[in-house]
Amino acid sequence: MRSPDSYWLETGPGWAGNGAALPRRTGVCVLGAGVMGSALAYWLARAGLRPLVLERNPGPAMGSSGRNAGRLIQGGNAQHALAIEEFGHAEALAIYRATLVNRDLVREVAARERLEATRFPTAELDLTACRDEALELERTAEALRADGMAADWLDLPAARGVFGTDLPDTLLGGLYRPDQDSVHPVAYVRGMAAAAARGGAEFACGITVTSVEPASGGGWLVTTDAGRVAADQVVVALNAWTPRLLPELAPVITPVRGQVVQTAPVPFRIPQWGLDRGLLYGGQARDGSLLIGGLRNTVPGRDEGIDPPEDGNTPAFSPDLADRLADALPALLPRATGVPVVRAWSGVMAFTPDRCPLVGAWPGVDGLWVLAAFNGSGMPYSQVMPEQLAERIRGGRGDGIPSVFDPARFL
Ligand SMILES: Cc1cc2nc3c(=O)[nH]c(=O)nc-3n(C[C@H](O)[C@H](O)[C@H](O)COP(=O)(O)OP(=O)(O)OC[C@H]3O[C@@H](n4cnc5c(N)ncnc54)[C@H](O)[C@@H]3O)c2cc1C
Repeated sequence: MRSPDSYWLETGPGWAGNGAALPRRTGVCVLGAGVMGSALAYWLARAGLRPLVLERNPGPAMGSSGRNAGRLIQGGNAQHALAIEEFGHAEALAIYRATLVNRDLVREVAARERLEATRFPTAELDLTACRDEALELERTAEALRADGMAADWLDLPAARGVFGTDLPDTLLGGLYRPDQDSVHPVAYVRGMAAAAARGGAEFACGITVTSVEPASGGGWLVTTDAGRVAADQVVVALNAWTPRLLPELAPVITPVRGQVVQTAPVPFRIPQWGLDRGLLYGGQARDGSLLIGGLRNTVPGRDEGIDPPEDGNTPAFSPDLADRLADALPALLPRATGVPVVRAWSGVMAFTPDRCPLVGAWPGVDGLWVLAAFNGSGMPYSQVMPEQLAERIRGGRGDGIPSVFDPARFL
């Protein structure tokens, strides 16, 4: 049942585009070829720059970007009504709108780069069995509608109608949001990286970066296990590994292990779903197999604050957690009873205290940028944050980045 690699890595396209030798100088050096580093390279290349991407794996999307659940859901990490309370209405709206721009960019890039097969449309249903959460979700539906977004609170019979299959009587209903996407993340990221390479970006894979320091004559010196590169600007897009190069972020970024299990294909389709404030979540791959992840709350201290492996992509796998996830599925979805679980995999997420990512300039210096810590939900920002950061790197405003994402808030 268990495999060391994810379904996406096993079924996605290979990567033959690397091989760039390490140059002595570059304009923009992007560290990490996950979805963030690859998309940033894409947008920089579209603007006519020739960024250099350094990645320690043999190809892009071998870190968390190739090990997630492929859900691309609009909205930030907090439900909209709670985000309004926490950040104020203007910022909460800026976060939600950024993810709507992201949706449009994902579709635009998929069409332009012939990546349509990497994406398919779905919906999101955030279910609950808890009265307090039901009230939060109802308030979120109202707040979203007041802001012009499509969202509804559905009682259980209506939720069952949308789900297209039975749901247990213990549930009260759910927040329904149509017009979402699901992706094959490895095909999506590698397709975008290949488009970036065609546009002039260079991917030097199999190279581990060990430090970034200011160069004596200005700019930055990037030291790797294959030599040094001088760069005018450096972007650190290293997910939970970011503090290894920027230790000031160690108190800010908490590495968290996530796991997903996958069933054999089923003959029915369901929307993406969340339960228990997203602590259990699921989706479905194009082949019909069900994905279920989460439950990291069930054993305190087991998955949060782990040490991400120095030279590997996944933390030690928990068979116990995989079993719990497999057991949770038929309890939620009786039609999945008896459907075999065929795979399970893990990856590392990077959490911040306010559950917002770090996107923007390192304060007080020129030419050092951070694009990291997407708190378990990077796909909703996977075009818009790289595209807006590329604009800032080129000296533009990039004002589609919500101000609450500014790394300076912690530094
Ligand atoms: C189990 C699981 C399920 C998830 N499900 C979803 C989901 O359904 N939807 C969603 O939106 N998000 C999900 N996420 C989160 C999502 O995967 C991340 O937000 C996203 O992949 C982050 O992208 P990234 O580019 O920042 O990180 P990564 O993809 O991890 O990229 C960082 C890259 O940096 C490289 N690197 C690290 N150190 C060095 C170094 N020293 N030198 C050179 N290279 C280095 C790594 O090899 C890696 O390729 C999930 C995560 C996990 C673990």
